[in-house]
Order: sequence, then structure tokens, then C-alpha cells
Amino acid sequence: MKKIIVTGALGQIGSELVTKLRNTYGTENILATDIRKASADVTEAGPFEILDVTDGEKMHQLAKDFGADTMMHMAALLSATAEEKPLFAWNLNMGGLINALEASRELNMQFFTPSSIGAFGPSTPKMNTPQDTLQRPTTMYGVNKVSGELLCDYYFQKFGLDTRGVRFPGLISNETLPGGGTTDYAVDIYYKALAEGKYTSYIAEGTYMDMMYMPDALQAIVDLMEADSSQLIHRNAFNVTAMSFAPEQIAASIKKVISTFTLDYDVDPVRQAIANSWPDSIDATAAKEEWGFQAKYDLDSMTIDMLETLKRKGI
Ligand code: NAD
Repeated sequence: MKKIIVTGALGQIGSELVTKLRNTYGTENILATDIRKASADVTEAGPFEILDVTDGEKMHQLAKDFGADTMMHMAALLSATAEEKPLFAWNLNMGGLINALEASRELNMQFFTPSSIGAFGPSTPKMNTPQDTLQRPTTMYGVNKVSGELLCDYYFQKFGLDTRGVRFPGLISNETLPGGGTTDYAVDIYYKALAEGKYTSYIAEGTYMDMMYMPDALQAIVDLMEADSSQLIHRNAFNVTAMSFAPEQIAASIKKVISTFTLDYDVDPVRQAIANSWPDSIDATAAKEEWGFQAKYDLDSMTIDMLETLKRKGI
């Protein structure tokens, strides 16, 4: 039975991951942590502690006292916010990661942290981007993610630490709003479609990016962490994706349900530049072959589920 410590547990991924892990491994076996406390299932339905990931000593102590055998490190500054505060992003993203890796090495914990399609850059092949390819990102977030992938591989090679990761695309969910990424529009659009019947996109028409629905992302984390180590040729980090679309395609999908929905554009140059530097679509073959990755939701099935769930929540 796993005993897992999760950092950044109140974020878009962490808030749903903790519930999934509690349902899978038992509430008492999952310690959720975050720099802040909020009134939510994560903090009230099971073990929760305040933890700033730049405090390595406290991280080590909490993991040790809990008897954790697994670390899932989610705390980070995302792409758009990191571009506004690059030095802060470096210190949080790299400082938090090295603390999490060190605690994992000292306590011999299995380790997971997500990388991102942001780990690719303008010189990366844009279509069907391979697992192993050129990674020269031009954003601080991308620099952090490539450095992080290398660091996680280093800890595996040097210390034998069982590090694993995925390169997540934009994640679409309905529990916690996204925290300052470039793909956030693809979440926003569903909320605005229901509330106002229209949406103004900060990403330009024709800009393709990979995306995935949160239930598939959470299952991918569990499946990768459960995979037989000897089957893993790659580790940090696997390309995973479910779909690739541009704003006009998600709008068309919404129009199938809300026929009066309209989309217009007011492009944000900062987030558009980040999007332009990322792949149009990535190839997830290595994840499929090495640990059986499979996404269930495509664009239309995700749209139906998003709109139904948000409606149920009174949006
Ligand atoms: P988020 O911004 O929604 O949440 C981050 C959480 O970290 C927040 O709850 C915040 O309070 C917490 N945090 C911030 N500073 C902290 C600190 N010093 N110590 C402890 N906690 C701190 O992020 P997310 O979307 O849940 O992303 C989690 C991970 O997944 C990140 O590494 C991110 O880069 C990666 N990722 C996310 C997406 C996506 O679409 N959401 C896509 C690709 C990769």
C-alpha cells in the first residue's frame, strides 16, 4: 500500500489528484500539503499540512513523520505567470524541485512530478512532436521544465531514485480553476459559454495546442506510478495527449450543445508568443508502449461532460 505526500495539493491538478489518490489508496494514506489553506475537500476530508516547498527541512520532516514512500510534487508557477516573474519562477520551480528530490532520495520515496509541452520550443518539430527531440524552449517555464526533466533523470541515474514524469498538455477541468497557464482559455470558454453564451479568446484563431481532460490526466499519473519499472525505457518525461485543437474547434464543439454560442478574439501577445513556441501536436507512442497510456475523452465527449458538470454545479 502506498503512502503518498502531495505538494501544491490545492492547485488545478492537486485538488482532484488528492481525491483520486484517497479513493484509490485510502484517505489516511495521502498527505496533502500546500503553502496556503483553503476550505476544501483537500484540507478537510483527510490529512493536510501547510508546506512551502522552498523549505526543504520541513518537507523532509513532514514526509518522514507521515512515513511516506511516494512523493508527488505539484507545486510550481505556471507558464504565463512565470513569464511575468521569471526569477521568482526559477527559485520556486527549481528550488522546490531540488528539495522534493532530496527528500525523496533521503527517505527513498518513489517520485513523480509533471513536466509540460512547455518543455519544447520553436526549434522543436511542431507536428507529431517525437518523445526524444530538440528541446530549446524560449520561456522561463520551459527552461524550468527541461532542467527539471534532466534533474529527475540525473537522480535516477546517479542515485537509483525511482523518478517518473509526464509532459502534460493543457488540462481541462471543472473543480479548480487553472493557475496562470497559456492553455487556460480552454477551461474559461466552458464557464463563459454557460454564463454568457459567448467567449473572447486571448489565443488566436488557428493556434493548435495539445489538451487533455482531467480524468485522463489523473489516470495517467496513477498508471505511470503503478507501471513495472523494468518496462520503462524513458522516465522524465513521457509525452501524453488526448487531442489537439485551435480555439475555433472547441467553439464548434460547444456550438453542437449550445447552438447560439459565439466566439471572438482579443489576442494577448504574451500568451500568444508562448503558444506559438509550443508544438501543434505531440506523439504519445512511448507512453502507450511502455506503460499503456490511453486517454478516454476526445473533444466532443469532453465538451458534453464539462457542460453537464458545470451546469450541475450551477454555473
Ligand atoms: P496550479 O497553479 O493550479 O497550482 C499550484 C499550487 O501550488 C497552488 O495550490 C499553490 O498554492 C501551490 N504553491 C505555490 N507556491 C507554493 C510553494 N512555495 N509551496 C507550496 N505550494 C505552493 O498548478 P497545476 O495546474 O495544478 O500544476 C501542477 C503541476 O503540473 C505544475 O508542475 C505544472 O507545471 C504542471 N502542469 C500543469 C498543466 C495544467 O494544464 N494545469 C499542464 C502541464 C503541466
